[in-house]
Amino acid sequence: MNWYYVSAGKQAGPVDDAQLEALARVGQIQMDTLVWREGMAEWQAYSTVAPPGVTAPPPGMMPPNPAAPALAVNEVVCAECNRIFPRDETIPFGAVRVCAGCKPVFMQKLAEGAKIGGQLQYATVLTRFGAVFLDNLILQAVIIGLRAVLGLGVMDTTSAGDLTPGKLILELAVLGFSFAIPATYEILMIGKYGATLGKMACKVRVVTAEGNKVGYGLATGRFFAKILSFLTCFVGYIMAFFDEERRALHDRICNTRVITIA
Ligand SMILES: [Zn+2]
Repeated sequence: MNWYYVSAGKQAGPVDDAQLEALARVGQIQMDTLVWREGMAEWQAYSTVAPPGVTAPPPGMMPPNPAAPALAVNEVVCAECNRIFPRDETIPFGAVRVCAGCKPVFMQKLAEGAKIGGQLQYATVLTRFGAVFLDNLILQAVIIGLRAVLGLGVMDTTSAGDLTPGKLILELAVLGFSFAIPATYEILMIGKYGATLGKMACKVRVVTAEGNKVGYGLATGRFFAKILSFLTCFVGYIMAFFDEERRALHDRICNTRVITIA
């Protein structure tokens, strides 16, 4: 959408929706600034077209700067530092652009799962399956290793007749560990890093609906909610295919999202 606006008594633009919003955020466009786009009968105050949530900067905090140059056709506002740059000196990230100086900071925010342009980049279901598959490989290897260390067979092939009391206790211990190890692994990794090793390898991360870190409490809840997704014959997982935000059942229960990190 091409917008035009009045700056220092002169027509400026065109700018797109994101640029218009960015200009409003930095105070270059005020709530009473006249704006126009094709299809509008006449110029209107920006307040009549501003998307919800866009408000003028509080008075005094960001005084309008009449000396500031209007945004030219090939200029954009950096989404990080809000300064104006020639378009080809900026790097696009989804709906926004960032200057070269802000790129490292912005990349860091991306890596931390911050919302970019108000949008989280949800991981695809197949990528998530890949991550779960890798984690299962790791966990199976650990449990097989544990069985070997305890002198049990690699697989649970002991028939009931061969079970000595000692072996029974070991088998029960391994069964306990088979639950405790994945639980500890997942809760500690998600709580601390937002990702298990499998998720790290697939460049995905678990975050809250707002894109923030989940922490240990939510990681614990999510682990147990995952058991539900598993017990429903994976229907809980399959739900993610049909969800706009690609939430599995456990993501719905815990209000978490799995996002792709750049
Ligand atoms: Zn910048």
